[in-house]
Amino acid sequence: MSALLDGQTAVITGAASGNGRGIARRFAEEGADVVAADIQEEDRLGGQPTHELLEAETDVRAKYVECDVTDRESLESAVGAAEEFGGIDVMVNNAGIIGPQKPLTEVGYEEYRGLMEINLDGVYFGTQAAAAAMIEQEDDGSIVNMASAAGFEGYPNLTPYSTAKGGVRLFSYAAAADLGQHGVRVNSIHPGQIETAMSSEDMASDGSEPSEQSDQSSSGIPLGRPGSPEEVGDVVVFLASDLASYVTGESILIDGGLTNTG
Ligand code: NAD
Repeated sequence: MSALLDGQTAVITGAASGNGRGIARRFAEEGADVVAADIQEEDRLGGQPTHELLEAETDVRAKYVECDVTDRESLESAVGAAEEFGGIDVMVNNAGIIGPQKPLTEVGYEEYRGLMEINLDGVYFGTQAAAAAMIEQEDDGSIVNMASAAGFEGYPNLTPYSTAKGGVRLFSYAAAADLGQHGVRVNSIHPGQIETAMSSEDMASDGSEPSEQSDQSSSGIPLGRPGSPEEVGDVVVFLASDLASYVTGESILIDGGLTNTG
């Protein structure tokens, strides 16, 4: 039986850890070659680098490229690295940080800009670089942008994060409108509480500051538990595959039902 992404090549940013690693693992299991693009090669929670893990556990080709998503040329190089595997078919703009967790009135401009450069500018540059390559290849493509449930709702003490993630959602709608004529689909995904280094980091910052994850106890989630990076990966596999050939300009919550209930 053929896998869903046989013969495809994906570039995944932030692929060293967490959601990016889970997405990369699911892509490899479905037959896609993977360019794991990240500022660091090591998984933030330890363990084998993603590309080594994929090559050990699956039959696909995988490689690491150093990439800082705040730098347009760095993203262009990461997209170019897919040529070794036949050219890019899927771009997953996943890299992101939680950023400052404090009341709006205490957020400094530098920390606000720092968050926006990674979480929003990085998605903009990554989508532009991938779309240019896909158009030049004259082949259909799929771009999946990582947002958050915070891109639908305002969470306290997370104004920069929520602003960027809402921006990713609307950016993806507009990019889908521009790129549909070229056969390039663009969608955003919106996880809730997913077990990654970012969520542990967030939990650890107990402080008195509510945050995206600490604000959402598992008991408030209809499915009663946090999600895993592989469950995020399942949705990205769907959006990348031909099963979603008529899906573009869509935003999908992956939050165990949290946002739209209660
Ligand atoms: P994580 O910290 O486990 O992984 C993030 C990865 O991004 C790391 O490997 C890191 O090195 C990389 N990265 C950071 N800055 C980068 C840069 N400038 N250039 C390239 N790579 C960079 O975090 P995660 O939870 O896996 O988060 C991944 C994405 O998922 C983020 O966009 C985050 O906002 C989103 N998200 C996470 C959750 C959650 O609960 N964990 C919920 C909703 C959305």
